[in-house]
Amino acid sequence: MLIACLSVMRRAGLVLTLLFLSLPASAQLAAGSMPVKWNEGAEDCQKNPQPPLQVHPYNSQTFILRENPCATYEAPFMYLLLGSRRALLIDTGAVADPHAMPLAQTVQSLVQRAGLPARSLLVVHTHGHLDHRAGDGQFVALPGAEVVGTKLKDVTHRFQFNDWPNGVVQVELGSRTVDVIPTPGHYPSEVSYYDRSTGLFFSGDFLLPGRLLIADAAADLASARRVAQFIAPRPVSYVLGGHIELDRAGHTFLGDHNHPNERPLQLTKQDLMDLPAIVASFNGFYGRSGDYVLENQNRVLMALGTVVIALLVAAGFGLRAYVHRNRRAAR
Ligand SMILES: [Zn+2]
Ligand SMILES: [Zn+2]
Repeated sequence: MLIACLSVMRRAGLVLTLLFLSLPASAQLAAGSMPVKWNEGAEDCQKNPQPPLQVHPYNSQTFILRENPCATYEAPFMYLLLGSRRALLIDTGAVADPHAMPLAQTVQSLVQRAGLPARSLLVVHTHGHLDHRAGDGQFVALPGAEVVGTKLKDVTHRFQFNDWPNGVVQVELGSRTVDVIPTPGHYPSEVSYYDRSTGLFFSGDFLLPGRLLIADAAADLASARRVAQFIAPRPVSYVLGGHIELDRAGHTFLGDHNHPNERPLQLTKQDLMDLPAIVASFNGFYGRSGDYVLENQNRVLMALGTVVIALLVAAGFGLRAYVHRNRRAAR
């Protein structure tokens, strides 16, 4: 019995050691600067002096890029991670035109400044909505840069997911490993990224300060649970999403080129851990949980469409009755 217990304890010890070795300790995380004043667009964009693209160096190997709300009301965030061999760009934003949005040129100069060749650039996405991939064409034109598609078969093939949406795969950048975690629910082929070097978790539109647009509630809940399980034993410095859609009073900026008094971009590990309960409380249509707005956009649009059609039909009947009455009165 004692020998059996010792054997189990020895095995448990080995598992714990392996677990410890495979997880970065909090103290080892590369530090970075986060409180950032993001450019907020303008009421009159014609007079807006802010550049189309804001670049914030989180540290010397990690850059946060943000498209100005005047260039696109979506004002998405993109992330550039530099390793010793490869550079990884997560998302390409909402603006295709390189003159209006010099994204590839900016990324290329950051990559080259780090001593990496242009061909070392790997362009990936959190998901396939156009506001996260409109700049792809700028990178396709760069010699040697690889742009991964956003269809489910592109994502599973390139990252070699054999049991989508289960499993976590790694992208090696050279002295820097990034975990890729399937997080469908907002979009069928959505993934999140966890950078072991900085402890940053890039959540795209799966989790952001604003609307959580949930197209498939069951898939989204399963993703939230998988992520919570993955992240629980790991250090997370910040959770960084694809947009800021709220001001500090909790009002949304939908379709607006002016984003005064924005909430911070960064969320916390606890916010990720709380996500399963929030998604589980979603009624499948529309709701609010704390600062988040939860919405099935397709259903909301369908409901609005139905209301508009009903109003048009009612107006048509009203008009017909009015014409009929006038004709009878004229006789
Ligand atoms: Zn999206
Ligand atoms: Zn988006």
